Amino acid sequence: MRGSIVENGSMLDVRGFRNLMGLFPTGVTVITAWGEGPSGMTANSVASLSLEPMLIMVGFDLKARTLGAVRRSRRFGINFLCRGQEEESQRFASKLPEAEKFVGVPYELHLGVPILDGTAAWLVCDLKALYPGGDHVITVGRIVAMGQKLDNPEPLVFYRGRYVSLNGQD
Ligand SMILES: Cc1cc2nc3c(=O)[nH]c(=O)nc-3n(C[C@H](O)[C@H](O)[C@H](O)COP(=O)(O)OP(=O)(O)OC[C@H]3O[C@@H](n4cnc5c(N)ncnc54)[C@H](O)[C@@H]3O)c2cc1C
Repeated sequence: MRGSIVENGSMLDVRGFRNLMGLFPTGVTVITAWGEGPSGMTANSVASLSLEPMLIMVGFDLKARTLGAVRRSRRFGINFLCRGQEEESQRFASKLPEAEKFVGVPYELHLGVPILDGTAAWLVCDLKALYPGGDHVITVGRIVAMGQKLDNPEPLVFYRGRYVSLNGQD
């Protein structure tokens, strides 16, 4: 695949796309909401969108349970994970019952949204808009609260399907 330019045909496939996007390192977040109880899912399709007004966007799988909680409550939190929170990332990416994901994970409510302990920083957003995005939906949130928990956090970084440190080591 290295060095090849593919416009169509068998190599332009989902696996190739996923592998290629894996070369783009991202931070890792847990998106939280309060539906019938706490909901949360690991997400890296998070990007700052606008400064005035302050907006952020998140790509949600249409089937994600957390998306249902966001649609119902019209509000969500973004928790920026630190190095050392790989277990939390795996847990919130799992199919555990929603309430079980939070067992042993301390959190407090900010404006009714669960904000996890031990993260680098957090945002609370009001749901502003939803736009179709294939099998995902682009969720735009207006920031209504934010906080930094650590002075000099080392972020959790996802790269080539693995968690790495900023110097590229596992
Ligand atoms: C580093 C990383 C980044 C990620 N980034 C994103 C991202 O940006 N956007 C995104 O959408 N996802 C992302 N994911 C995947 C996401 O974290 C998982 O899909 C997670 O499981 C979603 O949790 P959920 O509770 O919201 O919904 P899910 O658990 O995925 O539920 C989705 C569907 O599965 C069904 N289901 C739930 N539990 C079971 C069960 N026990 N048996 C059968 N069916 C079940 C539900 O009814 C629903 O239809 C990422 C994962 C990782 C590791």
